[in-house]
Amino acid sequence: MAQKITGPRGTQDVSPYESYKWLLLENKLREVVDQYGFKEIRTPTFEHTELFLRGVGDTTDIVNKEMYTFEDKGKRSITLRPEGTASTVRSVLEKGILNEGLPLKAYYILSCFRYEKPQAGRLREFHQLGIELFGAQDYTADAEVIATGARILKELGLTAVKLNINSIGCPNCRPKYHEKLKEYFAQHIDGMCEDCKARFEKNPLRLLDCKEEKCSAIAKNAPVVIEHLCDECHDHFEGLKKTLDAMGVDYQINTKIVRGLDYYTKTVFEFVYDGIGSQGTVCGGGRYDGLFEELGGNHVPAVGFGMGLERLLLTLEAEGISLGEDSVPEIFFANIGEAAKVYAFTLAEKARAEGMRAQSDLMGRSLKAQMKYADKIKAIYTVVLGDDEVANQSAVAKNMLTKEQITLDLTKPIREQLK
Ligand code: ATP
Ligand code: MG
Repeated sequence: MAQKITGPRGTQDVSPYESYKWLLLENKLREVVDQYGFKEIRTPTFEHTELFLRGVGDTTDIVNKEMYTFEDKGKRSITLRPEGTASTVRSVLEKGILNEGLPLKAYYILSCFRYEKPQAGRLREFHQLGIELFGAQDYTADAEVIATGARILKELGLTAVKLNINSIGCPNCRPKYHEKLKEYFAQHIDGMCEDCKARFEKNPLRLLDCKEEKCSAIAKNAPVVIEHLCDECHDHFEGLKKTLDAMGVDYQINTKIVRGLDYYTKTVFEFVYDGIGSQGTVCGGGRYDGLFEELGGNHVPAVGFGMGLERLLLTLEAEGISLGEDSVPEIFFANIGEAAKVYAFTLAEKARAEGMRAQSDLMGRSLKAQMKYADKIKAIYTVVLGDDEVANQSAVAKNMLTKEQITLDLTKPIREQLK
């Protein structure tokens, strides 16, 4: 026998018996974002590498360590998308979609690729719901994006997931804060990890969210960003808090949140769950007013988030929440004999044309084995067809739960006779 091939490390298969959980989740997500007026955007799985170098930022872990980059046969540098925002902005700019009116509210559910160390809640191919709100400068836009995330979690029953917010300022106030940070961290640089030593020069803000214990211990006493905001950023943050309070969205201020991506300005936030270990950030987002210009567009204010679906599913499981059951066949047509076999197929097709979920035997099983199978797949009604049923065009449908029996006139629509 030939050797079996395994799936690549850090990838996951979803079996036909598990996929309903994904569908139920995705349907719920689509339903909620639709309530807020977000419309789906679809972009390609791969982009020119340059997009992410500029759009995610070359001081980030994503760009430095995690990208799936390769040369295609045309000698172009191509990268599998590590996130969805850069592609969305690229598409919106390229297609002139903002000309249709503002604000633009777009969402996507897609797979992202990052070369990371695989563990629970951290994969090399994972899935995200992202929402992006373009064109609105006001803090109410930040509040609405955050409220969308909070609403999703509420609708899923995930009240244990907590919202943390922060503001990281803008190009006006951040340089001064950077100086303050550097002054502070300069005294501790010897005790920090190698990555942080590089961050010290390139992006000191990033020193605040290093996951190494020795670094986070140092970061604990660092100067706090919201105490160094310019008036505009300060007012924006106050407005956001006021709006969230008014909308009844619970939050905590966490001054250590800076987010991993370079393009964030002002608001940053995370929804965090404590019950699934260190991969507890279910959703992260913020405002990124600088990204459109970075990608060659005009100034367009923007705010959005990315929500990890694998982490959502882990959280649902940890909380013991089920979003529902898989669908079951409404009717199974069993057969005895050659004539009845083809008749069963005709009837199953007829039932489907009436909108029912219907199945019949494909395995040439005995009647007993067919009934056992119907039971296993949880068919609601079973109908046994033999020569008599074929001749009389009449058969008995049995409700497998209530054991109730209904005589069907098979020349008439099936569905309404079962009600
Ligand atoms: P982390 O700090 O956990 O690495 P991140 O800051 O890199 O997260 P984002 O780029 O903001 O994450 O992505 C948004 C969301 O996507 C995260 O909050 C998380 O739920 C999910 N996510 C990110 N990376 C992965 C991954 N490798 N596997 C599974 N989910 C992920
Ligand atoms: Mg990451």
